[in-house]
Order: sequence, then structure tokens, then C-alpha cells
Amino acid sequence: MDLGIRGKWAVVCAASKGLGYSCAQALADEGVNIVINARGAVDLQAATQRLKQRNPEVEVISVIGDITDPSIRQSLVDAAPQVDILINNAGGPKPGNFREWTGDEWRSAIDTNMLAPIELIKLVIDAMASRGFGRIINITSGAVKSPLDALGLSTSVRCGLTGFVAGLARQKDFAAKNTTINNILPGAFKTQRLEHTLQATAERSGKTFDAVAGNRLASIPMGRFGDPAEFAALCAFLCSHQAAYMTGQNLLIDGGAYPGIF
Ligand code: NAP
Repeated sequence: MDLGIRGKWAVVCAASKGLGYSCAQALADEGVNIVINARGAVDLQAATQRLKQRNPEVEVISVIGDITDPSIRQSLVDAAPQVDILINNAGGPKPGNFREWTGDEWRSAIDTNMLAPIELIKLVIDAMASRGFGRIINITSGAVKSPLDALGLSTSVRCGLTGFVAGLARQKDFAAKNTTINNILPGAFKTQRLEHTLQATAERSGKTFDAVAGNRLASIPMGRFGDPAEFAALCAFLCSHQAAYMTGQNLLIDGGAYPGIF
């Protein structure tokens, strides 16, 4: 299926590895030009090269820096002639015990996983609406629907973003101008982040890494962790011409792990 987005420009945040990189790759496969970002220069350059080799027809521009820095966010937006697609992403807050989270850790989680995406949306959404095409995807977490106690920082601030987006996406200024905002909620995907989370749980509980990974797998009806390419395929579809009638949605992709009816 041709997704109808060839030649458009996407800003993909936090995209040298993991889910962000896979989303950039899926969009590049569709002929979308990419601005990618991450803090570490070496991995970002390697990711840029891989994308260019994969589809030499698209332009790939990298912007090094932390997405919580306002000047980096502005550089990301300025790097593209126009932003048609925005994929909001960043590293997640560390797991832990709520009794130990300091005010600074709470504020850092709010900055990274709530305010940074909101500020980026603010930078691009009016221009998207004026051109009559915009697709904004926020990578959040399955924890928004099904909280895990160790991930309280992540759940709380992502719920804040989710609540904000629920209202914004339905404003006629955007919804009636083919400018959509949706959230994708990953379950457990095979990335560095998942490895770190499992490792931290193993250290806290005194169990082995394999035992913790086995417990997690046992909670997933499909019996496996997700492939980032599966996540990215959903992301690319939500960015497509065909997905124009979907906005304000929270799409869970978790191998059936969430047990609720809705
Ligand atoms: P990952 O494999 O650790 O990759 C994170 C990427 O983001 C890296 O490229 C990293 O590069 C970049 N990054 C992190 N913080 C950044 C920042 N402040 N500014 C710019 N770039 C930044 O993580 P992932 O598994 O793809 O996860 C992506 C998001 O999905 C996270 O928020 C995570 O919590 C959430 N999530 C993941 C899963 C899962 O199973 N994988 C499940 C639920 C939720 P640098 O470190 O070089 O900046």
C-alpha cells in the first residue's frame, strides 16, 4: 500500500536507536525526508548513514542534542523546509520506588516526557493546519492504561501528555484541517530500554535477568517481545494519507498483554 506521504518531511525525536530509529526507518522507506535527533553523536551519525544507505532518495539531516533543550527543539524544526510529520519521543524516566524520587527527578520526567512534546507540538501545529496536512505521533507507554508500580514517574507524566493531547486533537482548528494527533502505547519491545528496565528489576528483586525476562514474557499472550519494526509499521500508517480520519486516539501495541475489553 502506498501511504501517500512520499516527499514529505518528518522530525523524529530521540531516534538513534530503538523505537524512534525504527519509526524513522519506516518513514524513510515510504520516501519521507527525515530530521533525526539524539544526544549521542556517534550513534546518531551511524543511524543517519544507515537511513541514507537504505533509501538514497530521501534527505536525512541529524540534529544532536537533548530534546528538553528549547534551542535543540527549534533547531529540529528549522532543519526541515517544513514539518509535515512530528514523532515525539525521548528516553523514559528510570524505574524505582516512589519514596526515593526527588523533586528534581519528578521535574526532569515532566520536562522530558510531557513538556518537550507539548512544546514541539506548539512549534509545528499551526503551520501544519494552514497547509492542510499534519501528522503528530507521541510515543508514550502501555503504562498509561496499565500502570506498573516501578514506572510511576513514566505513567504519571505520560498521563499528563495524554490528557492534553485528548483535548488538543479535537480542536476544530486542527481536526478540520487534516492535522491529526495520536499516541502509540508500546508494551514490551526488544530495545536497549527494555533490557535496562529488566536489568533494574533483576537488581532490585535479587532475581536473575533471565528469570525477570521470563516472568515478563509469561504476561504476554503472544509469548514474545515486540519487534520495533512492528511498532514502526503502525507509526507509518498513522502518518499516512489513509489515516486522515483518526485523531486523539491511544493505540496499544503489546502482544495482547493489556487484559481489559477496551
Ligand atoms: P531506547 O532503545 O533506549 O532508545 C532511546 C533513544 O532516544 C536513543 O536514540 C537515545 O539516544 C534517545 N534519547 C533518549 N533521551 C533523549 C533526549 N532527552 N533527547 C534526545 N534523544 C534522547 O528506548 P526505546 O525502547 O526505543 O523507548 C522509546 C520510548 O518508549 C521511551 O520513552 C520508553 O520509555 C518508551 N517505552 C518503551 C518500551 C519498550 O519496551 N521498549 C515500552 C514502553 C515505553 P541518546 O541516549 O544518545 O540521546
